[in-house]
Amino acid sequence: LFDALADQAAIAIERIQLVADVERARLAAEADRLRTALLSSISHDLKTPLAGILGAAGTLNDYAPSLPETDRTELVSTIIEESERLHRFIGNLLDMTRLESGATQPNASLHFPGDIVGSALRRASRMLSRHRVDVALPSDLPMLKVDAVLFEQVVFNLLDNAAKYAPPASTIAIQGWRDGGHVLLRVVDEGPGIPPDDLERVFDSFYRVRKTDHVPAGTGLGLSICRGFVEAMGGTITAANRTDRPGAVFTIRLPIPSQTDSVKGPS
Ligand code: ADP
Repeated sequence: LFDALADQAAIAIERIQLVADVERARLAAEADRLRTALLSSISHDLKTPLAGILGAAGTLNDYAPSLPETDRTELVSTIIEESERLHRFIGNLLDMTRLESGATQPNASLHFPGDIVGSALRRASRMLSRHRVDVALPSDLPMLKVDAVLFEQVVFNLLDNAAKYAPPASTIAIQGWRDGGHVLLRVVDEGPGIPPDDLERVFDSFYRVRKTDHVPAGTGLGLSICRGFVEAMGGTITAANRTDRPGAVFTIRLPIPSQTDSVKGPS
């Protein structure tokens, strides 16, 4: 009996090892695939704006004196816009690295949500120039204990996405309200929205929804940075779709610090 049991145990161990080997090989292949996808995505995101900058700068260099003023202005705008895109992309990569290495520690102090939204809007003004922006923040929103730099980056990333995925001339709304002990801030757009199965996954690093032929350039990092920063400040961020028409809704929820419950915002 003992020998029979020992044989069975040996067979079971062999099977487990086989399954483990297959699983290990699958994980290694998956890691390889992710690394390759990541490298090709990053190379693409660096190359596309650089190609635009080089092309425009080359044309200016070769033909500037004979070009009409409007063409020159357009080429200079391309150089500025593409450089800003590169700058944002590299900024996102750096934010992500800092977040993952634990080097980003929130430096919290009291701020009115409206002030943070205002500075994010100013920073995003160029990329929002083709959209209508509708800000609805009540004047009595209480102050929040947040890191102004991180919070502004979160709002900026959400506005960046809304401008990227929603068509020109559509409206991007920023809404805020108080819900008990929390302040909620929402960025709502009129773009295609997000497939229901992807609503949670869009916050994963490097995750991008690919459902159309034309996907705007991006890294799949913006929203994971948003979630990392919001959670570092003690809040939550969620994605949803509009119910009245196509469009995405991102909601940030941050706790109101108890000692400032009665502090009111400027009118
Ligand atoms: P990126 O925009 O660089 O791809 P993000 O992490 O900011 O990375 O977003 C992840 C994915 O979520 C995007 O690739 C896009 O598919 C989807 N997404 C984000 N914001 C929106 C939006 N406002 N409307 C529709 N899809 C969006």
